[in-house]
Amino acid sequence: MTTNAQEFARARGAMPGGVNSPVRAFGSVHETPRFFVSASGPYVTDVEGHEYVDLVGSWGPAILGHAHPAVVKAVQDAAAHGLGFGASTPGETELAELIAARVSRDGEAKPVERVRLVSTGTEATMTAIRLARGATGRDLIVKFAGHYHGHSDGLLAEAGSGVATLAMPGSAGVPAPIAAQTLVIAYNDLDAVREVFAARGDDIAAVIVEAAPANMGIVPPADGFNAALADIAHAHGALLILDEVLTGFRVGPAGWYGIDPVAFSPDLITFGKVVGGGLPLAALGGSAALMDLLAPLGPVYQAGTLSGNPLAVAAGRTTLDHLDDAAYARIDGAATTIADAAASALSDAGVTHVVQRSGNLFSIQFAAEAPTDYDTVKAQEAFRYPPFFRAMLAQGVSLPPSVFEAWFVSAAHDGTAVSRIVEALPAAARAAAEATAD
Ligand code: PLP
Repeated sequence: MTTNAQEFARARGAMPGGVNSPVRAFGSVHETPRFFVSASGPYVTDVEGHEYVDLVGSWGPAILGHAHPAVVKAVQDAAAHGLGFGASTPGETELAELIAARVSRDGEAKPVERVRLVSTGTEATMTAIRLARGATGRDLIVKFAGHYHGHSDGLLAEAGSGVATLAMPGSAGVPAPIAAQTLVIAYNDLDAVREVFAARGDDIAAVIVEAAPANMGIVPPADGFNAALADIAHAHGALLILDEVLTGFRVGPAGWYGIDPVAFSPDLITFGKVVGGGLPLAALGGSAALMDLLAPLGPVYQAGTLSGNPLAVAAGRTTLDHLDDAAYARIDGAATTIADAAASALSDAGVTHVVQRSGNLFSIQFAAEAPTDYDTVKAQEAFRYPPFFRAMLAQGVSLPPSVFEAWFVSAAHDGTAVSRIVEALPAAARAAAEATAD
């Protein structure tokens, strides 16, 4: 048996930072990353044989719990028929139809008539932006500080998730003329939106927004924010790209689009994570008129060797099939119990905090007032998170290794798993209370 430390030392010799995605290095929580060898339901097991209750959920896809038997069987069956053909399959059409049917809201026209399947959320947002530019003949994109839309060149400026965790303003290697095509403004600030459109409205192709931001911790949109954003963009002939890579099919059957308190009309919606059921699959969707601008029908090019591959399609379809009302009720119930227990434990320990929620997504922010944008998120006492995280890990609970990430609950988080989390929280809260800024 090897140890996590041995695995990490070896990995650092083979991969930059020992990882294939930066947050996995556990740098901001000052801990040795765990190397996992198996997962089942709400649990993950590391190379040392330690089992943890997992609240990362593969960063979202494991919404039914890890290695859900029906998903595993669907993938095995698909694999037995061929790993991929580089050609069309009936399953792709079925998944596209399922996505289009599910993303609906009473009284509203369905926003998704056509779907393109890709392999990552990064590709989905990148393609949505190219499509918006192709459709409008304009170049500029508006994004919000602290929002994360994947790692394509134009979208890394003041991004959330790993970029926020590493406190990077953006990324080296992005040419200045490309970065200049992205206008970054403060979130939840409609005046800033109106100002940017008043100044550059004729050149803006699209505004891209996380439907309910979850990559700077959870920062819910103010009621009506998404609707106002759509109105302002449309008044200037620009499109609204709603990024539901994280929220899609997680916060409800129709994603955040379905539960936003005020109905609105996004032009393009991006999906990822849950829609691939744990395998690499993401998607974008919109009206037929817009989506048919994609090649081969239209002039906007996009392609992918493994796009719509049968294993990922099988995992995605089976996952969506199992996300019925009962599954969402279990996820929402477990999320409420854990979020409430975290808040009580922190209050009992005298730690200033808020637990922010967007549907069944939540995270702790060490601030007196609920942060509403990236500046207020960054002003929190983030130094309290690493000891909190380490105390949870020591008690067998695997949290996201960054205060800027959401906690992901699954339908497999049963009473036993939830109790283990709840029992671990008081000691973690005390560790957070004792933390000092250095
Ligand atoms: N958009 C959002 C809202 C995300 O949360 C993420 C990933 O966390 C992405 C896009 C990028 O997805 P991927 O990591 O699959 O490229």
